[in-house]
Amino acid sequence: MTLVVKIGGALGNSPRPVLEELARRSDRVLVHGGSGEIDRLGTRLGVPPRTFTSPSGVVSRRTDSAQLEVIVLALAGGIQTRLVADLRALGARAVGLSGADGGTLTARRKEGARAVEEGRVVRVADDRSGTLERVDPTLLRLLLSASFLPVVGPPAITLSGEVVNVDADRVAAAIAVALGAAELVFLSNVPGLLRDPADPTSRIPEVSPDHFEEALAVAQGRMRKKVLAAREAIAGGVGRVAIGSSDRPQPIASALRGEGTTFR
Ligand code: ADP
Repeated sequence: MTLVVKIGGALGNSPRPVLEELARRSDRVLVHGGSGEIDRLGTRLGVPPRTFTSPSGVVSRRTDSAQLEVIVLALAGGIQTRLVADLRALGARAVGLSGADGGTLTARRKEGARAVEEGRVVRVADDRSGTLERVDPTLLRLLLSASFLPVVGPPAITLSGEVVNVDADRVAAAIAVALGAAELVFLSNVPGLLRDPADPTSRIPEVSPDHFEEALAVAQGRMRKKVLAAREAIAGGVGRVAIGSSDRPQPIASALRGEGTTFR
């Protein structure tokens, strides 16, 4: 019974208890993002994070060639190596993969993104972000069958071999679907989906398909991507998807027990 776990990259996500739990289980894949580390490394290298606002008001990370370089260094170079080293110290046979390895993640380059700048709508130039199109689970299956623990993160590659950044929450959902996983857990720095993002006691315990639009309406910023990813995973046949806090003992078991937000 395959389990996919996604850990957040924003500051305030604490991976240690998650890694301890993963090291004890078999048949699991860890997916990671790394927004906090990308921002920190980029600032040190003179490529600080920038955002743009679309005409419909959605704020996104500006991913030009220099920023993509930072993303690859921070994720595949930094965070992933750190996670693999920590997992190996805990006795797990961890292996790091970017989406390029084994053609695991194929994306299409986003075209025609528009931004509002000084009141005018302009095209976003040199956009190195992509939309995930396909997961090839062959390498993941091979590793799982030999008791390895795959640790996967962006970037992905296009069919013509370009490297592009993709959203790690959508990656986790697509991997869970491609592997036919029974469970998918998103661990973040909040206790789950909150009715009021400023009130940690306003957790929504369960979201059924009928109430999905309501859930989406309260999710802002990065939480929106998790709720959309949860819907994709459920639609793709994953039995249970949970969003929970990484900052507690046994965060995976806690989320799966229903102490976060469960989607069925
Ligand atoms: P990642 O875990 O992928 O790094 P984040 O931790 O930044 O992503 O995503 C969760 C963030 O989403 C929370 O820290 C919170 O600020 C924000 N958020 C917005 N709306 C909500 C909501 N309704 N419930 C919970 N968190 C929300």
